[in-house]
Amino acid sequence: MMSRRFFPALLLSLLWLSMGVFGQSQSSAKPKPHVVVLSVNGMELDVVRPLLLEGKMPNLSSVIKKGAYGKLRTVSAPNCPRVFSTIFTSTKPEEHGVTGFIVGGITANTNMLKQEPLWSMLSKKDVTVGMANVPATFPVLPVNGYMISGMLTRGKNCEDGVLCAPKLSEVQGGDAVYPATMKTELLKNVGDFYIDCERMPAASDLKGHESEFIDSWLTKVQLIRDEQTHLFDYLLDHHPTDFTWLGQSCEDRTGHWLYPIAPYNAGYNPKVNAVRTEAFPDQYVAFDKVLGAVLKHIDDNTYVIIVSDHGIKPLREFEETDAHAHMDHEKTTPVIAKHDFADGDDVPGSFFAMGPGIKHDLRLMGFEASVYDIAPTILHIYGIEQPMQMRGHVLSEIFEGSDKAIAQK
Ligand SMILES: [Zn+2]
Repeated sequence: MMSRRFFPALLLSLLWLSMGVFGQSQSSAKPKPHVVVLSVNGMELDVVRPLLLEGKMPNLSSVIKKGAYGKLRTVSAPNCPRVFSTIFTSTKPEEHGVTGFIVGGITANTNMLKQEPLWSMLSKKDVTVGMANVPATFPVLPVNGYMISGMLTRGKNCEDGVLCAPKLSEVQGGDAVYPATMKTELLKNVGDFYIDCERMPAASDLKGHESEFIDSWLTKVQLIRDEQTHLFDYLLDHHPTDFTWLGQSCEDRTGHWLYPIAPYNAGYNPKVNAVRTEAFPDQYVAFDKVLGAVLKHIDDNTYVIIVSDHGIKPLREFEETDAHAHMDHEKTTPVIAKHDFADGDDVPGSFFAMGPGIKHDLRLMGFEASVYDIAPTILHIYGIEQPMQMRGHVLSEIFEGSDKAIAQK
């Protein structure tokens, strides 16, 4: 297993230990740019756009006005670990190895990554890195800062780690927090938060008490979001890092079974799909509040990048042999929307960026930006040249003036 890894983890962790556990040790070096990434698992622009028009996402609106945004071309048959690992490495799924939720019969995990991820490259260049609830980061790897895992974390009642929600204290089968000492601190100061969003219900959970179940499920989802918001607030206050990446994953989870479909859509069941038609759009309204909490920590010299891995659309037909793992263990969740269409262009992700030198009110048309471009663009902000294996390019079109002006920051 170790031989397939891209670096000897022990060696790197020793290096960072010598620099101070939290890495805030480059007092003599010139300040590094500050970048905060907020990622969303499954942001569907068809649902977000009306909310923007209605003024229900004021924080995202403000980022759009002050920055650049557009669709984000994703990979074929996109799903969360597959796309996020592509974003981390700017390499193809077949190259980085995390091709889906289950790889070779095993839940996707960071030991499978065969290409160096962004956080490792930044850490090596003395950029302090903080990451929390980012999908496909379990078990956590050493960084020049901290890492708290996200989706695919395994734990009690979530033994395979697929689309379920262990609490921090319930994690099993690997570390969810780096450095390990930070876990105690988080339990004390933040509490025992859920690391991922709630599991989707089985058909048997719903049958006969659909509306009560939907209500209680959505209450739990909001609790998880509130806990994560509290965690982000704590981290941004107490552990500021040059590069910070925070993740949200309840949007997609809700969309799969509560997308506001119409009676003519495949899978429509009025007992489920006519009950809380606002539930899925409301996830983005709730996301906007999380964004607002993060923006309170942001100054004009900080880059903010919001990125999603794919959208989500109603089923076009029933697919009896749906290979992807958006099901509960019994595989009976009444899924009515999905994103792993063979053509990823049917369900693009989205991209929003603002910060020093980024153009205002710029809309990227078509597929100017792709999931491969995120890592090179972030490296560029830090003046780090993209390595050969990366398949994306720097999104230079979003920056004012020449590339040099950015590199000098
Ligand atoms: Zn999904």
